[in-house]
Amino acid sequence: MGSVDLIGVKKSFGAATVIHDINVSIADGEFVALVGPSGCGKSTLLRMISGLESVSGGEIRIDGAPVNELNPRERNIAMVFQNYALYPHMTVAQNMAFNLRLSGLGRAERQRKVEDVARLLKIDELLERRPGQLSGGQRQRVAMGRAIVRNPEAFLFDEPLSNLDAKLRVQMRAEIKALHQKVGTTSIYVTHDQIEAMTLADRIVVLNSGRIEQAGTPLELYKRPANTFVASFIGTPS
Ligand code: ADP
Ligand code: MG
Repeated sequence: MGSVDLIGVKKSFGAATVIHDINVSIADGEFVALVGPSGCGKSTLLRMISGLESVSGGEIRIDGAPVNELNPRERNIAMVFQNYALYPHMTVAQNMAFNLRLSGLGRAERQRKVEDVARLLKIDELLERRPGQLSGGQRQRVAMGRAIVRNPEAFLFDEPLSNLDAKLRVQMRAEIKALHQKVGTTSIYVTHDQIEAMTLADRIVVLNSGRIEQAGTPLELYKRPANTFVASFIGTPS
């Protein structure tokens, strides 16, 4: 179960308030795309949900429980970034198993879990390779595999495909969709790419200068954008 509730969430860096009173509830299993221009606060919002950044006001709840005071490890939230951040000296299997080191599972169970997830992501042939011996798409799959092994309550994606070429992006987009249909983990997905947001998301949240301009299904935003800002982001003439 991985609902995510943001209740009056705020963030300031010194005198600058970059997130203003964000209220949104994401249901267990929902796939939400978070879109908006560079600097509008998307990464800051994800970092607050994961616990990498403190909140300046309001409350974040995961599966109904307040998490403001919990550190990232205590939240069981997985982040997938554009730069993968795999450990270069470890094999794929070791990279994935590293996230299970505090799980309490025995060695054999950890290995089985890694193999199961590797099969799911079609990287089971790559388990003994190191990140330097992988293509960009393969590295992205490993990063997702590393996130999935922990059975997180939610996945947070911060523009995970933005470093890939256009063809691979389309392929990975389809794989992320298929994966979500299989495992059904609550997902918050930051992207610059409207088509990515439209095809992946159950719901799109449009952020501008730290405020939500509109939240709705792709169809709602496409047919009834609340304002010209949303219309320009979703790609319809206003
Ligand atoms: P986005 O991911 O939408 O591009 P960010 O969340 O990275 O936006 O940034 C939102 C705003 O917060 C920007 O104005 C950015 O400069 C500012 N910001 C982000 N992190 C910090 C920080 N650690 N210290 C000061 N300002 C920051
Ligand atoms: Mg960002």
